[in-house]
Parts: sequence; C-alpha cells; structure tokens
Amino acid sequence: AGPPPGPVREQLSPADLFIAVKTTGKYHRQRLDLLLETWISRNMQQTYVFTDGEDEKLRKRMGAHLINTNCSVTHNRQALSCKMAQEYDTFINSGKKWFCHVDDDNYVNVDSLVKLLSQYSHTHDVYIGRPSLERPIEATERLGTAHMKQVSFWFATGGAGFCLSRGLALKMSPWASDGTFMATAELIRLPDDCTVGYIVEALLGVSLIRSALFHSHLENLGLVSDIRNQVTLSYGTVENIKNTVHLRGPFSTNEDPTRFKSVHCVLYPDTPWCPSF
Ligand code: UDP
Ligand code: MN
Repeated sequence: AGPPPGPVREQLSPADLFIAVKTTGKYHRQRLDLLLETWISRNMQQTYVFTDGEDEKLRKRMGAHLINTNCSVTHNRQALSCKMAQEYDTFINSGKKWFCHVDDDNYVNVDSLVKLLSQYSHTHDVYIGRPSLERPIEATERLGTAHMKQVSFWFATGGAGFCLSRGLALKMSPWASDGTFMATAELIRLPDDCTVGYIVEALLGVSLIRSALFHSHLENLGLVSDIRNQVTLSYGTVENIKNTVHLRGPFSTNEDPTRFKSVHCVLYPDTPWCPSF
C-alpha cells in the first residue's frame, strides 16, 4: 500500500519560506515602516523587500534583506514585472521551499501561512492564493504578428499575496528566470500577477488552489471574521471610505487607521509597544 490519500504533511518552519514584499520609494515611510514595526519585525530572516530606490534608514534596518531592483520608479507593467522577475530569481537562488509574494499594504500572519503550506509538499506543483475575478481572465497571446491566440486562465491577485512551491517555481524557469519574465509579461501585456497565472495555468497546465485566507483591499475587509487565523490582510480607501478589518484592540482607529498594530498586538501581546488591554 502506498501513502494514505489526502494532504501530505511535512514539517515546515518559517525558515523554509521566502516572503517577497513589493514596494516603491514613496511608500517606504508611508507603508513599509508599519510592516517593519509589526509582522516583518518578527520575520526578518525570511522577508525580502523589493524596492526601486536606496534608503539609508531601511538599509540600516534590513541590510541585505532590502533589495534595490533599480527597476523604473513608475507603476507601469514593465516596472512591476521587473520587480516580480527579481523576486523570482532571488527566491530561486535562496534555496527556500516556498515563495510568497505580498504587497506593502499586506499584513502577513506567518504562523497561519506556515500552517497552510504544511498541508502541501514543496516538491509538488502548488500555486495558492485568492483569485481577483469571478471567472478566468481572457488574454491575447502575441506569439508573432500573425500568431495571436486567445487564452483564458485564473490568477491569484498580487494584492492579497500568493505562494508558489519550489517544485512549481523551477518548472516556470523557461518563462520566468533571468529576465524572461518581462518578455513573458509582454506576450500577454498584462500585469505581473496575471503573468504568474499565465505561466502556471496556461503554459504549465497547473491549477490555482483557491484560499479564502488571503485578503486584498478589493474585497470588503469589514466582513473578515476570525482575523487571527487569516494568512494575509490588507487595507485601503474606496471613495473616501476606509476599508479595513474590524477588531477590538488596544489602539483606536485614529491611532491605528490600518488596524495592523491592533492585529499585531492581538496576535503577539508580548510585543514591547503593545499596551495591555
Ligand atoms: N507599487 C510599485 N510601484 C509604484 C506603485 C506601486 O511597486 O509605482 C507597488 C506598491 O508598493 C504595492 C503594489 O505595487 O506593493 C500595489 O500598489 P497599490 O497598493 O498602491 O495599488 P493597488 O493595490 O490599488 O493596485
Ligand atoms: Mn494596494
């Protein structure tokens, strides 16, 4: 008899993860400092910040964990896929078991993340996250001026974070490593997170595993319950209305508009700056 059916359990620890945070110069103070105060402070060893400009304060704090990509300081497709390309290459060189990407407006609960990923094997093909659309995205594959083909595939929204197993990431290398990721993104002319979905689903035939534990500010975050067990959280503003998770915690919404400090203190009440509540 072979192994029992069902999810494979493996001993996994935070050290097996490579967490890439995408940011940009103008958000270092506005967004990244909050992450450094909260979840990154407890997970510096597995976290790498990919940005586009030097920052003395961040460099002092993070050392080699701050990666200046020298990608262009704009929000266009090329600039964003330039960062994803470097996240991918740095992960491959790190030898870690799991690659996870998040934005600089995400809180990552690393314990929940480890628990989730330990249900899978890093040697299998695993692509896990939250799809941003209700149906697959349609794209035009430009294989040459005379070769345009419609493709449709699911992708995990980068704003909620997603993960790839090393096994799958290695199979992606013809379309993702050493600068090829940017060329692949140009084939379909879509953003970086869509390009990951394109490589995994359309080119490799591997399906996205949907997880409701990843959250972006595209959803109504006020509806998220069981906040302690979610893998990622986010915050945002839609038409001047704040979209955040709702929880009681030691900080008021004025002191902690994103709610990330309160989340952090609920999860880790022993943190020196967390008041008792
Ligand atoms: N970002 C970037 N370069 C830019 C603007 C944004 O790398 O010029 C990053 C930003 O730091 C964040 C992600 O892209 O990690 C998404 O940006 P944002 O949250 O501002 O936009 P949205 O979530 O609305 O797409
Ligand atoms: Mn965002």
